[in-house]
Amino acid sequence: MSFVVVESVTRRYDRQVKALDKVSLEIHPGEWLAVMGPSGSGKTSLLNLLGGLDVPDEGRIVVHGVDLSALSRPERIRYRRESVGLVFQQFHLIPYLTALENVMLAQYLHSMADEPEAAQALESVGLGDRLQHLPAALSGGEKQRVCIARALINRPALVLADEPTGSLDEANERTVLDLFRRIHERGQALVMVTHDPSVGRLADRQIQLQHGRVAGEFLPPRETEEDLDEVLEYLWMKLEGDEAAHEVCGRGYRMATPPLLERMRALGILAPGSELALTESGHQRAESLIRRQRLAETLFTQTFQMQEHQVEEEACVFEHILSPAMTDSICTFLGHPRSCPHGKPIPRGACCMSAGQVTAAPHSHRS
Ligand code: ADP
Ligand code: MG
Repeated sequence: MSFVVVESVTRRYDRQVKALDKVSLEIHPGEWLAVMGPSGSGKTSLLNLLGGLDVPDEGRIVVHGVDLSALSRPERIRYRRESVGLVFQQFHLIPYLTALENVMLAQYLHSMADEPEAAQALESVGLGDRLQHLPAALSGGEKQRVCIARALINRPALVLADEPTGSLDEANERTVLDLFRRIHERGQALVMVTHDPSVGRLADRQIQLQHGRVAGEFLPPRETEEDLDEVLEYLWMKLEGDEAAHEVCGRGYRMATPPLLERMRALGILAPGSELALTESGHQRAESLIRRQRLAETLFTQTFQMQEHQVEEEACVFEHILSPAMTDSICTFLGHPRSCPHGKPIPRGACCMSAGQVTAAPHSHRS
């Protein structure tokens, strides 16, 4: 049975604008649905209706067997407090209450203010040391996490999030997405509006809104080989001990989510277990990738004298298209360099061996 049923819902703000135009969709219990679409396509309007903050002009919304349109105002307020968790981009925190009090307020609204429990919720989102801070003293990422703590307190079966990562930097985006992943793993249904395809891809299913209508519905694409390469690059630099790996390989870092790492274990790229370790074939693949990238960087810098930002951009493309033969030619042309312009070691290739660049493991003599 569907957990949420949206039946031919229309919402008009004035006579001309139909923010939603006969939208129908279903959400399964525990499902993570991503709502995508251009600005003004009706995403926020849909979320407001699901959250009981607004009512449709036509059609109906049934959540867990309850027809929201049939609820009286007090009943709708109760639904909002008890059955849904709202995480919006504009944080809706009360500015003169501390983080702890903001979470306790959610409990108060659920008539169960309990300070230790609120503190625990904040600890679970990594804000154990921010309990007494006012929202103004919290960063965007921290505010977002207070909202999530607040949305978690009652374990609502339906969590609604409107572009929750829209204004966050990469590190905070990752923390926040990890929290949503936990919400999902606990079996709470999650409807998340996002512009970002890499965030949408985390969902079980995506719908695309356009001009207030559902224009498409699809399962997120699986990761591509190129995605795996990006993650491998990030892991390689991390294993090299580079503290800035998450900045240099931003895309790989963002994609290195627990589910993807699990897939890479299944694909034999990462070794089984909780430690981050490459298998032999994973190591070879990463080594060859890093070799191509660093050789390309050396070529662009030394031979073509490109600017640094241009070098990085071009090298990121080149590393995916250089054939082994071309790679060896470039390496030979450059005289088998040992390190890239940033001083990072370039893994050796077959051409380096034959050029006698490496005193490899001693050969056994047969004579
Ligand atoms: P999205 O979240 O996808 O950007 P919205 O749901 O916010 O889109 O808006 C859909 C359409 O409805 C837009 O054309 C927007 O201008 C209009 N709209 C949204 N809220 C209101 C409102 N309160 N009053 C009038 N028009 C609105
Ligand atoms: Mg919006």
